[in-house]
Amino acid sequence: MFIETRGNDGIKPKRVNFSFAILNPSASFGGLYVPEKLPKLDKEFFEKSQNKSYKEITKEILQKFEIDIDEKTIDEAISLYDKFDDDKNPVPLCKIEEDLYINELYHGPTRAFKDMALQPFGYILSDLAKKQGQDYLILAATSGDTGPAVLDTFSNKDNIKVACMYPDGGTSDVQRLQMVTQSGKNLQVLGIVGNFDDAQNTLKSLLSSPTFKNELQKQNIKLSAANSVNFGRIIFQIIYHIYGYMSLLKQKKVDEFYDIIPSGNFGNALGAYYAKKMGLPIKKILIASNINNILSDLINTGVYDLRDRKLLKTTSPAMDILISSNVERVLYDKFGAIRCKELMDDLKEKRYYKLTSDELKNLQKDFAAIYSDDKFAKETIKKYADKGYIMDPHTATTLCAYENLREENLPAIACSTAEWTKFAPTMLNAIKNDNLTYNDETALSEFSKALHVEIPKSISDLFSQKISHKKVVEKKDIEEEILNFIKG
Ligand SMILES: *Cc1c(COP(=O)(O)O)cnc(C)c1O
Repeated sequence: MFIETRGNDGIKPKRVNFSFAILNPSASFGGLYVPEKLPKLDKEFFEKSQNKSYKEITKEILQKFEIDIDEKTIDEAISLYDKFDDDKNPVPLCKIEEDLYINELYHGPTRAFKDMALQPFGYILSDLAKKQGQDYLILAATSGDTGPAVLDTFSNKDNIKVACMYPDGGTSDVQRLQMVTQSGKNLQVLGIVGNFDDAQNTLKSLLSSPTFKNELQKQNIKLSAANSVNFGRIIFQIIYHIYGYMSLLKQKKVDEFYDIIPSGNFGNALGAYYAKKMGLPIKKILIASNINNILSDLINTGVYDLRDRKLLKTTSPAMDILISSNVERVLYDKFGAIRCKELMDDLKEKRYYKLTSDELKNLQKDFAAIYSDDKFAKETIKKYADKGYIMDPHTATTLCAYENLREENLPAIACSTAEWTKFAPTMLNAIKNDNLTYNDETALSEFSKALHVEIPKSISDLFSQKISHKKVVEKKDIEEEILNFIKG
């Protein structure tokens, strides 16, 4: 069963099952759903699981959560990992230093780790909607990786419509093409004039617009969400941390390890935190930020402060986030609902909150954090490319954590969250050590020739595919556009 991070308001149910929590992810007082308790994994589980496939381990862990989804649906959801490069091992673990292993989470259809959760989650959500005969609208605002993964998983699914907004000019060409070439009839993709914040704010104002809500009611369409506030995504983000450790055990005996996470909305890190609580022997979760370092400030100082902060554009755009939603679930887990609500209310009213020194110590038992800038990312990309390993700019931030945050000489597993092909201009800037502006198509081709790496067909094909969504609209016109879309 699932309960609420900010306590119960007396209107919403106090405890809900998994399917309720994923269909209606907004809990009392704007809080989030969290599992009432986590299953425990003992030594025997890890010993027994070493030779199991990713799909087998996923199924076992989902069963331990005792969620109200039938076995057939789970099997079908998990079978979507067959769409990954290697269906036997969707998440290869690659050793790049004596003590550093990269957990490559980007081998799915849209080449970013969002597929790890969105592929099976999308299947389960649309299956539930279909069985209930209820239509749902998913609204998504994306800075580049969520949009393609959400559209891919829901394309042509019954009872689901998706309206996805991206900042025009704010994503890479590849990311934009991954969205606007989607041809599913149930999908709407809109460029908006503005940046990612504008896209997100537009989405928020839609959610509170009476005309919008009225029309949804008239059409009998409910709203759900596919960002990582939805626990249906988090549950699948626990598993690859566990599987990464299983893969490491095959290479050497390891009693404890550091788990390094390039973080934005903190969904990936939360998955690691839950895995640790379930018994995965993570010494500490090392959080890597870019110069939008609000998370590393929180973990180092106990203060989450939005005052005088502006979102800065970096070469790791998926981590350009100031409001990191999933931190709330950790605050709830550590300090309880009353305190969690207090902190979240402070954030809303005063735009900052401050943990007590005991609370900070408690947080630091599980987390350490550091940030790095674009220069570090470029140098790191170049350094490893010269050694024969290619990592994207988000993954590069984890090296700063690896180099500075390990207190003991234990091995580390770093999550690699995207393939280089999504950020080819930055990759080419890094290896050529220049600051020229390249378009994605040129950069992809130059980089792949220089480094002798292949471009997956799903990426190279994008440039010749038909564009299905051409609209770029002003913020004020979004509501009308989406209303026209849901009216069919
Ligand atoms: C989404 C994303 C992240 C951030 O993950 P969170 O779970 O939001 O912290 C990091 N890197 C890439 C490439 C992403 O797409």
